[in-house]
Amino acid sequence: MNNKNSIGFIGLGVMGFPMASNLLRAGKKLVVFDINAEQAARLPYQERVTIASSKEELAKQVDMVLLMLPNSPHVKEAVTGEGGLIESLPAGALLIDMSSISSTVTKEINKKLEEKNIDMLDAPVSGGQSGAMNGTLTFMVGGKKANYDKALELLQIMGEKIIHCGEVGSGQTVKIVNQLMSAVNLVSMSEGFTLGVKGGVDPEIMREVILNGSGRCWALEDRMPVILDRNFEPGFTIDLHTKDISLALEVGKELQVPLYATSLVHELFKTLQAKGEGGKDNSAVITLYEALAETEVIKRNKAVIQ
Ligand code: NAD
Repeated sequence: MNNKNSIGFIGLGVMGFPMASNLLRAGKKLVVFDINAEQAARLPYQERVTIASSKEELAKQVDMVLLMLPNSPHVKEAVTGEGGLIESLPAGALLIDMSSISSTVTKEINKKLEEKNIDMLDAPVSGGQSGAMNGTLTFMVGGKKANYDKALELLQIMGEKIIHCGEVGSGQTVKIVNQLMSAVNLVSMSEGFTLGVKGGVDPEIMREVILNGSGRCWALEDRMPVILDRNFEPGFTIDLHTKDISLALEVGKELQVPLYATSLVHELFKTLQAKGEGGKDNSAVITLYEALAETEVIKRNKAVIQ
């Protein structure tokens, strides 16, 4: 059965579940698959949900598929592995991979899909779980402009900014650059704030000043408040951010671009993983500095900011 009104959706985790829910809320019909079958059963608007028991069963019912999987091996397995989508999607179908994976693997998958006349877009996102829930994600899209145009209406349901970055793989490249920069910023903020607090300054006052200074960054705006509250529940985990930093290092190696700060930040994140803290929010990287400096970046009672 090829139900042209339905869209395939594979990967209903932290991000995929709310994104699929938003598509259903907008009236779309979905054929879904996740190796954890419980996820599909929890989706809202079940009258518009068809739960497939395999990727093959899903692929036979749709001509557009969205993927939201953890990393390159998962996407490779889902598309070109045994019983993968490539075997059952019809010619002319469009596969949109919203996962954050390697740009090189993306290009390899695209090449294989092209041989079967199946189109592909890479469309990783930023904006986190809250962006996925509120439909305010930013999509970085790589692929032919005609495919971007075809996907736009769907992506606009899940996101606010949908930016065409260039050919296939360029969405993943932009995402990798963003993740590299956000990790480095997080570490620079952790280093600076540990020093400032050890030097006797109230961290809330320091934040207020630097939000108006050249040290301002997303980490300071968004992550410092949770650090001050000592809440390291994810959020975006150390494990996922380490995966993205590893992707940046892989690309750096392929393109022979030295990535000094990224390499150091990678080791810091790996230290947290070695301590068994990979499941914590990425802001927990500050605890490494705090332990060495024997200080804590925490709210003081009733700091007066004038
Ligand atoms: P997740 O681990 O919560 O979800 C992944 C889902 O895929 C799970 O439900 C899992 O059961 C399913 N799955 C795994 N392998 C599968 C397979 N072979 N076939 C079918 N289903 C399979 O991950 P997430 O947090 O939703 O992240 C998904 C992607 O989005 C990652 O690449 C991540 O880096 C990226 N991302 C995450 C965030 C975030 O804040 N969590 C933000 C931006 C981007």
